[in-house]
Amino acid sequence: MANLEDNYDVVIVGGGPAGTTCGHLLAKRGHRVLMVEKEEHPRFRIGESLLPHSTKVWDELGLFEVFEKGPYARKYGAWFDFADGTEPETFYFGQDNPKRGDWAWNVERSWFDQILWDAALAAGANGVQNAEVTAFHKEGEGAAASISGVDVRTQDGTSHSIKARLTIDASGRLSLVGKLLGLRSPDPRLNMVAMYGHYENTPTLTGKDAGTIGIIAMADGWAWVIPFDEGKVSVGIVARNTAFAERVKGRKPADVFLDYVAETAAVHDRLGPDPVLCRDVESTANFSFRCSALAGSGWVLAGDAGAFVDPVFSSGVHLAMEGSRRLVLDAHKALSKGQGLVPKAAFAKYEGGTRKALKVFTRFIYKWYEDEYRWAFMRPPPNSAAVQFIKNRILRVLAGDVFQPWRVVPFMWTLEMMAKMNAAGVKRLNAELPPPGRAPQYMPGRENPPPQLPAS
Ligand SMILES: Cc1cc2nc3c(=O)[nH]c(=O)nc-3n(C[C@H](O)[C@H](O)[C@H](O)COP(=O)(O)OP(=O)(O)OC[C@H]3O[C@@H](n4cnc5c(N)ncnc54)[C@H](O)[C@@H]3O)c2cc1C
Repeated sequence: MANLEDNYDVVIVGGGPAGTTCGHLLAKRGHRVLMVEKEEHPRFRIGESLLPHSTKVWDELGLFEVFEKGPYARKYGAWFDFADGTEPETFYFGQDNPKRGDWAWNVERSWFDQILWDAALAAGANGVQNAEVTAFHKEGEGAAASISGVDVRTQDGTSHSIKARLTIDASGRLSLVGKLLGLRSPDPRLNMVAMYGHYENTPTLTGKDAGTIGIIAMADGWAWVIPFDEGKVSVGIVARNTAFAERVKGRKPADVFLDYVAETAAVHDRLGPDPVLCRDVESTANFSFRCSALAGSGWVLAGDAGAFVDPVFSSGVHLAMEGSRRLVLDAHKALSKGQGLVPKAAFAKYEGGTRKALKVFTRFIYKWYEDEYRWAFMRPPPNSAAVQFIKNRILRVLAGDVFQPWRVVPFMWTLEMMAKMNAAGVKRLNAELPPPGRAPQYMPGRENPPPQLPAS
């Protein structure tokens, strides 16, 4: 039976990357913390490809070397296939001589989250698993409400009322406090369905590309191939809701997933001749949302509980962990100073920084779903030093360098301008636009030489 007290400095709902990072770093600073996790580690979770800019938080948790010694190859970059008949294009975060901080890993989350959980306990956090937060002690309504603790139902069916100066909602996309306070709104521009499974018996790549992930454009969206170790890969299909609805029609999402895998050459080629699906295909829809406030009196939202944009650039775990590292800096100050509930104002820095980081990813992701922007990114003139420079800067976004937007946003603007100019070029030529997901063949530097733009 869980040995729970009725009062902590901080109670944390959820033991994923956000919850465990908060628990670990707050306990390390001497606060009495309780992490409550509904499931039991190791448990499956999607979100397997990590970003190099998490190195700072992994170091602070003392876990970088642990991950380095784990069973997974380093991930140095990603290949993008645009289904346009040309070779996939590979990007590396660290270019030719990657140094520490230029790679991450692809991890099975059951393994990764267990390590995070155990490390938080070792740092002095209290944790209870198979225990569900069933209610929040709330007063008032909306963002102005205060929260002074939670009710927890443990595995033996007992209910515990727990008071805390700070309640951290790290419940993932369930966003329990966001829903309770009516803060959560879906993002209508990102209306997608994701279907995913794991395959074994696929070719194992060696050398620098052993952990390189694949992002494959499809007419209905895109697919991922994320290699783990020993021939095991994660495959995901992310399709527009409307396209998915057209296909599913009384069938199971798993059938739609298998159709897409069979139809998408770059995916089934990567899986080799005898892939074996080794876990049930799962699906999730309408996962993009944000909350209008990230903190209030006695509460704060961490990781996905505050917002989730889209999986395309593997940003979720990074935002959850690096965001939580920043949240803890604010929380520690406030907890050390006063008494009573931690006020909203304590989280001004965390909230501002997180919003900026989310804005960078959101902007990039919106653009990613516009074909003309993808073309400009994927098919720039290869010999232009200026364009390569811009592209390298934008690769920083893909590495997770998003908490200081001035480092990347001007380059994103420039690329957006280039994309517009390219699209205008197509129109002026009356060239036929390619079907979605295909790069236009007029783009310079490829097998088909570009037609000459008429002199203006
Ligand atoms: C299709 C898809 C693909 C993705 N791919 C990637 C990727 O490649 N890379 C990447 O970085 N991110 C990816 N993500 C995002 C990633 O899954 C999340 O961003 C990440 O898991 C967020 O961590 P978290 O700790 O905020 O939430 P979670 O990992 O979701 O953890 C929340 C925890 O809260 C617990 N919980 C919920 N309710 C309660 C309750 N009432 N009481 C107690 N505990 C509770 C849950 O059991 C869970 O363990 C993907 C997301 C989707 C949808």
